[in-house]
Amino acid sequence: MVLRQRFFPVFLLLVLVACAGSAPRADLEAEVLPTLSPVARGEGELLRVVATTTIVGDVVARVGSTAIELTVLLPPGADPHTYEPTPADLTAVSRAHVLFVNGLGLEGFLERTLRNVGGNLPVVPVSAGIRPRMLAEDEHAGETDPHVWLDVRNVMVWVENIRQALSALDPTHASLYAANAAAYRAELEALDGWIQEQVARVPPENRKLVTNHPAFGYFADRYGFEQVAAVYPVSPGAEPSAREVAELEETIRRFGVPAVFAETTVNPKLAEQVARDTGVRVVTLYTGSLGGPGSGAETYIAMMQSNVRAIVEALSD
Ligand SMILES: [Zn+2]
Repeated sequence: MVLRQRFFPVFLLLVLVACAGSAPRADLEAEVLPTLSPVARGEGELLRVVATTTIVGDVVARVGSTAIELTVLLPPGADPHTYEPTPADLTAVSRAHVLFVNGLGLEGFLERTLRNVGGNLPVVPVSAGIRPRMLAEDEHAGETDPHVWLDVRNVMVWVENIRQALSALDPTHASLYAANAAAYRAELEALDGWIQEQVARVPPENRKLVTNHPAFGYFADRYGFEQVAAVYPVSPGAEPSAREVAELEETIRRFGVPAVFAETTVNPKLAEQVARDTGVRVVTLYTGSLGGPGSGAETYIAMMQSNVRAIVEALSD
């Protein structure tokens, strides 16, 4: 209870700035790896690893496999921009040997979580070294776009960063981490190629995305789409004005976009209203979280396949 009360006022502020990251770009070799040294552990004691989002957690699990004890903070369906850590999360973080985060300002709860647990827990931003794109909205120029994982090549960078970090903390398993990373990287290469084949089926004039919030910039850049508008142009925490909604509906009509893409982590009410007003479909995608058990999007690779199938189907009509 005490923790919750302490978080509450800060949380309200964070919702307002939710989607934009202004966190500086981290350099893994210069800034992160020097903070990591082999962790002394008892007989049979595994490296205790915490990851923030389900997506970061899935990739960390693929590299660490049986050599790590992994806790993922966010449950499937939770929005990383607006997530509020639970007391159990704080306990897991305080017991961890290392915390893996997306970085680039995605995790609004991160700084106050680390302040609360104190100590000198190593934090590894898996997006270190990725050149971030800027959010396109004029009034938010200069803010970095944190949604790097929607370009598969960026997740290949994550894999290498995670491999290096785990190997520095736990050199005895370095060859296992290297083998896991190489095997997973091959799957990611295949996924990237598959996505390119699939999107080639969408007529070029239809490669326009109206999303719930501007999460698909890296996807659009990599796979040849344009993110033309968003239901929540700033963040799902900031309600758009009536004028912004009217402009969005005008954009949908002008481009003849056949679908509005909602997301599993945000209430689709406004997206559904916009779709009704403009007579287009609502199609749900995975953005900041994997799907839960039985969703068919329980892993990063399955999530990307699910998104691509949905996008191709919606825009190929
Ligand atoms: Zn976002």
